Amino acid sequence: MKKVFLNDSEIPTRWYNVLADLPSPMSPPLHPATGQPVGPDDLAPVFPMNLIEQEVSTERWIDIPEAVLDKYLLWRPSPLCRAENFEKLLDAPVKIFYKNEGVSPPGSHKPNTAVAQAYYNKAFGVKRLSTETGAGQWGSALSMACQMFGLECRVFMVKVSYQQKPFRGLMMAVWGANCIPSPSDQTHAGRKILSEHPDSPGSLGIAISEAIEDAVGDPDARYSLGSVLNHVLLHQTVIGLEAQKQLKKVGIYPDVVIGCAGGGSNFGGLCLPFVRDKINGKEISVVAAEPTSCPTMTKGPYAYDFGDTAQTTPLLAMYTLGHDFVPAPIHAGGLRYHGMAPIISHLVKEQIVEPRAYDQIQTFEAGINWARSEGFIPAPETNHAIAAVVDEAQRAREEGKEKVILFNWSGHGVVDLAAYDAYLSGKLIKYEMPEEDITRALKAIEGLPKP
Ligand SMILES: *Cc1c(COP(=O)(O)O)cnc(C)c1O
Repeated sequence: MKKVFLNDSEIPTRWYNVLADLPSPMSPPLHPATGQPVGPDDLAPVFPMNLIEQEVSTERWIDIPEAVLDKYLLWRPSPLCRAENFEKLLDAPVKIFYKNEGVSPPGSHKPNTAVAQAYYNKAFGVKRLSTETGAGQWGSALSMACQMFGLECRVFMVKVSYQQKPFRGLMMAVWGANCIPSPSDQTHAGRKILSEHPDSPGSLGIAISEAIEDAVGDPDARYSLGSVLNHVLLHQTVIGLEAQKQLKKVGIYPDVVIGCAGGGSNFGGLCLPFVRDKINGKEISVVAAEPTSCPTMTKGPYAYDFGDTAQTTPLLAMYTLGHDFVPAPIHAGGLRYHGMAPIISHLVKEQIVEPRAYDQIQTFEAGINWARSEGFIPAPETNHAIAAVVDEAQRAREEGKEKVILFNWSGHGVVDLAAYDAYLSGKLIKYEMPEEDITRALKAIEGLPKP
């Protein structure tokens, strides 16, 4: 068996909400001015009310609207594949399965939530969405989704990526969106950064500030975030729910579930349905892989922090490297966000999810070995998950234990080959975030409430 497919009629029709099953309550988002939990009205200028309701819902199952299923069916259910060639290469007692989320039109898991968010904004009467993007995966996914539901789309793209990856900007243009390098002169937040640091390469935190400011200034516009928030992780659970059906068909249950984690959405999407099983007593490891150059969960404190650089968002309880964090320019592997989804952070704190950090040399090595055995070229982000699979296979060999590994192949790297160029031409170095950066991070969150 190399692949397990589901028929169109077998696509999950509900998303899974882990908030219904958490063993302990999460710390709520706080209003930075009052220190009180934010209410739905505080968020109304930023998000449509139907998504705010999902953000705070504790219902275990939420129906996927027909119109969203109709779009999902363009590429979903995604195949569950067995990586037998990679298994041979690793020569360890493991079976490796992966969900191939690279089969979507923009090439990643991101349209699972982009399509849902465009649908709910349209239903609420919104005319335009504003967002940020790092490598461009999210911007292209939202551009496609906005086009499908007749919304305008404006994307603030981290400047260094905009320059390095012109093809992502072109994809957004094909899908009818307007892509602007950030920091830009179109917002107060952008102009402030430019006046202090004219050569700023940009960061996700800055781009988020610009996109929020842009959306809040236009009553017909709302902001859209591609990761981190509860409703985003909710939409992504279609991945894990499909995987559970597929594995059931072949009578297999995994010992380890793995995903790479930037903001936590593809990781949560695959893993949260399995986290539910773990909470209910299943013995299973759930591993989140991150870069050593942006080691949010393995080095950062669990604290209240802003989601963006300009401190416009509510305070989120999460692992964080500080809202002023800008990853080292040498870092090529993506997963650059300073924080981590509050849901994933909570699960790490509760020791239900185990975070591990991998160096970029290790991740590209794993990704190249994957491409040379399994064919598909992974996105640099996905390589972190593959590095964790290699690590897990080595552990299984050392322990002499047979293991079934399931991981999320979050996307392909066909529009992201510059990072491979850097690796193949020997320009990448092993890089760990310096310890001084922890001091800076702690300073950034000084004086904020503690979860
Ligand atoms: C955006 C992206 C990620 C990281 O984002 P998460 O929200 O952590 O999933 C990982 N892989 C791919 C292919 C991406 O496009």
